[in-house]
Amino acid sequence: MSDQYSFGSHPVHYLNPKVDLTKIKRVAFDMDGTIYKGGTLFPFTRDVFDTLEKIGIEYTFLTNNSSKSAKDYLKKILNLGLKATPDNITTSASATFFYLKQHYPDVKKIYVLGTASLREEFTEHGYTMIDEFNETEEPELVVVAFDTTLTYERLCKGTYWVGQNKPYVATHPDTVCPTDLDTILVDCGAVQALIENVTGRRPEAVPGKPDKDMIGGIMDKYNLEKDEIMMVGDRIYTDMEMARRAEIPGVLVLTGEATLESLKESGLTPELVLDNISVLADLLVKAKTGK
Ligand SMILES: [Mg+2]
Repeated sequence: MSDQYSFGSHPVHYLNPKVDLTKIKRVAFDMDGTIYKGGTLFPFTRDVFDTLEKIGIEYTFLTNNSSKSAKDYLKKILNLGLKATPDNITTSASATFFYLKQHYPDVKKIYVLGTASLREEFTEHGYTMIDEFNETEEPELVVVAFDTTLTYERLCKGTYWVGQNKPYVATHPDTVCPTDLDTILVDCGAVQALIENVTGRRPEAVPGKPDKDMIGGIMDKYNLEKDEIMMVGDRIYTDMEMARRAEIPGVLVLTGEATLESLKESGLTPELVLDNISVLADLLVKAKTGK
């Protein structure tokens, strides 16, 4: 595989000739590291979405970050000056709701290691929160999410319920959330590993990326074939692994976590490897218009 990727200055490092870009109807975009880093949009991002709109390609923002509800993500997207409706957003919490309805349809009382924004979203989906305000009842299930408000007390309590053999679900496997600040944002996967270390139990499911159902839900909703949607992201073990599992084209961009070196080590072969999403927009314009 090492010879497939050019290490020069060309922005297209690899393009699998089997991918037919003229068929693409919708692009699923990872967010952190793909369209922005931390709170800062990349300088080319707005133009990319304007271009997609012009050539009639729709898009979904896809994030494993479950620290914000889809509603709060929509606000963030709009504040960045991008166009979106709630339909354009899929989070690992969306995938978790989908999983819970399929596998635990009768569960209503849950303990959530998550932010107020996420817990509100669970409430809106009909769940009752068991927490410090409601300690008289036992939860039927525990959800571990990216909790930027995590306290020691809540971590201990959630771990206790897992230790009591309540089924538990982690929204996504990421151990670190990318940031442009001088810190490490410890993410859901790391907290889940801690709980596993203490209780010896693995979660029943981890419905966020790289679970293929996160893409499957979008394909169902818009009635798309596998060659009509592509997944764009900066992470190999979530974004590109999900594309592989869902058998759709994966587009790796180098604006976030992955480097050409880490790609070689991973053994995965995304269909496209590009400097950034602006290069993807150029390729799609060329495919759709011939220019
Ligand atoms: Mg990312």
